Amino acid sequence: MKLYILKPLLFFSFVFFSVYLRGQATAPDEDTGSYTTCNADGANATRTSDDLPNPVNVGTIDDRSCYANYKESDVYGKTWGIYNITHNSNQFGTSLQPRIERALSASLKTGVGSFAKFSGIVRILEVGDTSGTNNDGSYLIQAKGKHTGVGGSPDPAICLYLAKPVYGTGSNSGKQVSFDIYAERILVRGGSGSGREVVFLKNILKDEQTSFELEIGFKEDPNDASKKIHYCNAIIGGTVFNWNIPDPERGTQSKIRYGAYRVKGGRAQIRWANTTYQKAEVENQSLSIDENQVTLSSIKTYPNPAKNNFKIQLNNIENATIGIYDVLGKKVYQKTNVKESIEIINNNRFKAGIYLIKVIDNNQKVYLKKLIIN
Ligand code: CA
Repeated sequence: MKLYILKPLLFFSFVFFSVYLRGQATAPDEDTGSYTTCNADGANATRTSDDLPNPVNVGTIDDRSCYANYKESDVYGKTWGIYNITHNSNQFGTSLQPRIERALSASLKTGVGSFAKFSGIVRILEVGDTSGTNNDGSYLIQAKGKHTGVGGSPDPAICLYLAKPVYGTGSNSGKQVSFDIYAERILVRGGSGSGREVVFLKNILKDEQTSFELEIGFKEDPNDASKKIHYCNAIIGGTVFNWNIPDPERGTQSKIRYGAYRVKGGRAQIRWANTTYQKAEVENQSLSIDENQVTLSSIKTYPNPAKNNFKIQLNNIENATIGIYDVLGKKVYQKTNVKESIEIINNNRFKAGIYLIKVIDNNQKVYLKKLIIN
């Protein structure tokens, strides 16, 4: 009888004590004690001027905090990038929130197979705290990307990963012992101004080495091969959190930034190690032309590829409507009642890329031709 009770008790005591120990410990490379907003050795002339010569972390520094500059520590057998920021340590105007992040070069194509992919190991030691407001926490990493059309920021954050503080009890009262990780995701293209959903993902302990993989890119929609999915997928400590971005056809690129971003109260301390980055850029293939529709001899364009002006010549097509579409299917030019030919003066109306010329004659017959602008 006694053994039945004792065994689970011992087990629970062991688990409780382990978690308790790991949760409350001070990290070897943690800044403890009081702090100021600005320090002489934390100021930097420009956002990119004060990186280490050969930083262990990948990407270009974006330091907007006068509390600290990027540093490194050798802890737990790895070299860690140190990202420390404090409330009000904005160095370049109040509109730029305090942050030390690294920007990775964007994947600028939207064809299926294009992606930007980051991986690393993160330790969270401290995050922003605003005492119960909705602005608690600091961001570890975010995926960004511009889009066509109007709405919101021209370069919005699409999905962000936020760590909110969890405080201990008893002797750990007032100490951040673990962190709730949330995904913040846009509801429509247009960024934060159009609203975001905030979804709880998982809790990780303070100073716990946690693998973090983030990939944003374009893939084929498994339910409709003519459509694309613009995805933002994360794997945090081995747990998969996949998400698809609204309006995939409007996305024009995929970008990732990581480090420490936003602290509206207190201090944030994030560490990153073993960081890697890779990207792929695949041209959009949506202009594959159905050969049955094409009567090549009916339309001539020259020069093709074109640079500035180009001419569209119609053979035996009268009173045609000519439309020119970009790779996203957006109409960039239209002219009705074309007799034999038209000359189009580019005037920067067409950026470099592939276009589709669609000619509809007065019998509603459709003719297609590909146009390349260099
Ligand atoms: Ca700085």
